[in-house]
Amino acid sequence: MSIFELTIAGAAKALAAGSVSAVELVTAYNGAVAELNPRLNAYITVTPELALEQAKAADARIAAGDATPLTGIPLAIKDLFCTEGVRTTAASKILEPFIPQYESTVSGKLKAAGAVMLGKANLDEFAMGSSNATSGYGPVENPWKRAGSDARLVPGGSSGGSAAAVAARMALGATGTDTGGSIRQPAAFTGLAGIKPTYGRCSRYGIIAFASSLDQAGPMARNVEDCALLLNAMAGFDTKDSTSADRVVPDFAAAVERGVKGLRIGIPAEYRMDGTNPEIVALWEKGIEWLKDAGAEIVDISLPHTKYGLAVYYIVAPAEASSNLARYDGVRFGARVDGVDLIDMYERTRAAGFGAEVKRRIMIGTYVLSHGYYDAYYLKAQKVRNLILRDFTDVFAKVDAILTPTAPSAAFGLGEKMDDPVTMYLNDVFTVPASLAGVPAMSVPAGLSAEGLPLGLQVIGRHFDEETVFAVSAAIEKAAGFTPLPELRAK
Ligand code: GLN
Repeated sequence: MSIFELTIAGAAKALAAGSVSAVELVTAYNGAVAELNPRLNAYITVTPELALEQAKAADARIAAGDATPLTGIPLAIKDLFCTEGVRTTAASKILEPFIPQYESTVSGKLKAAGAVMLGKANLDEFAMGSSNATSGYGPVENPWKRAGSDARLVPGGSSGGSAAAVAARMALGATGTDTGGSIRQPAAFTGLAGIKPTYGRCSRYGIIAFASSLDQAGPMARNVEDCALLLNAMAGFDTKDSTSADRVVPDFAAAVERGVKGLRIGIPAEYRMDGTNPEIVALWEKGIEWLKDAGAEIVDISLPHTKYGLAVYYIVAPAEASSNLARYDGVRFGARVDGVDLIDMYERTRAAGFGAEVKRRIMIGTYVLSHGYYDAYYLKAQKVRNLILRDFTDVFAKVDAILTPTAPSAAFGLGEKMDDPVTMYLNDVFTVPASLAGVPAMSVPAGLSAEGLPLGLQVIGRHFDEETVFAVSAAIEKAAGFTPLPELRAK
């Protein structure tokens, strides 16, 4: 069996049994990165020497009997997480050069667990996008291909580098961040599992901010169990993030085994949207049958404000982004383009440093926050956001989890949807409501499209009930028995 066939759980067992060393595992993954990254562009920065050093330390820790399930496991870290001493870009030229002097809490926790960092994964600039095409460091290619076609496809976004890295076996798992779907949609596009935990479950400290009331870190991996192992290490209260929740972190890996017998699963009528690809609707129906067969009770539910989700998201997220990105002024971080005076320097720096999508969001954000429009847009959006949250609260009095599709289509071609931002934003139609409500949601690979591309189903849970999300996702994973692999991968 090839070393690349091991999952995180499998590799942890092999490491514990001594049948493979961390140095062997990491050397193989460093090799896969060297071979495939020039083609796929999943990493912006690779750190093979650092990875090898960390692998040696992991072997010593395993020998000393002090290992965690992640000790010696090679990971990709999305390049939105600040990593001490390692260049961090947010895929934006405006940060070039930026070498953080501190580590984000989440990547620091993974480090403390003994995980190994292979490099910093590519993303849409400042995590704004659904295709990875807005990266200032070039697009990422999806390792999957349509059957009989060589066309280059997007891996989804914004955590598309993380997704491509794990799918192509250039990492065993990855960190992502999800503001409106950036973990779930790329996971669906690349045949992976990925969870956006409850807002507040993982610390945002040291994650470059996009929209602070929505941003959440989470794991992406080959299966549900691996995501649970990663989230166990990533989650937890942090005094450095005032929105981090002071809650006990349960054993997520144990929840994977729970089963769904007796659980009530809600099927929201509003997610049956006109024009959704019939393949996706059919897969959703299959998912419903699988859960029924596994002993769950299916309940028809209504989330009446779903139709406002995208509009609310694309007001709230740009508003927060315009404020968060005000700090990139050529003074404190990264790039500077000199001008005749201070204002001119700000303007030249921001004009040169930000890409088109980021500029669009800043303009929308400042507009909806401006005097005279604040009430009509931002305040209204906040009110509707509250109604969306109330929809979920009402429904979760009746059901334990909700099942929906993850995305309205399979992976699309590189360059498609780029000239029409609204079509691009439609990618997020199924993922943004859970983000606005702050509830946990996971995408799990459930089948292939007629063209041979992976499709995902989404499981949404109550606040801080990731355990049920894991249990339901694992039941779908088991029933789906999704085993296909992408064309481009380390073998
Ligand atoms: N695609 C969404 C956007 O462009 C979500 C991005 C994200 O979750 N970071 O804003």
